[in-house]
Amino acid sequence: MKEFKQVRENLLDMLEDIDDRLGKVAEENEVDKYSSVNRDEPESSLEKSMRNDIANIEQAISQIDSGTYGICLNCGQPIKKEFLNGDPFSSHCIYCAEDGNGS
Ligand SMILES: [Zn+2]
Repeated sequence: MKEFKQVRENLLDMLEDIDDRLGKVAEENEVDKYSSVNRDEPESSLEKSMRNDIANIEQAISQIDSGTYGICLNCGQPIKKEFLNGDPFSSHCIYCAEDGNGS
């Protein structure tokens, strides 16, 4: 799927960026354990959403590699590029996404 080559590169960039930030967050959490700073934020929520992002990105990359990226899971039609640009992890076309159920 060479048309998604650019998307794949963008996703890899995002993955690296999140990986990098995740490492820093983990370091900060480590430091905070020994500091007296009072944190009322749940420490893992940011990490959790980052790990979620990583999973989404890795899934999209593997879909690009297997040629299933950009295909609606519901109707099997190609998802519009404009829609994918807005939501690169979308697994449904704009019509099926609007219907609200992916059954
Ligand atoms: Zn669809």
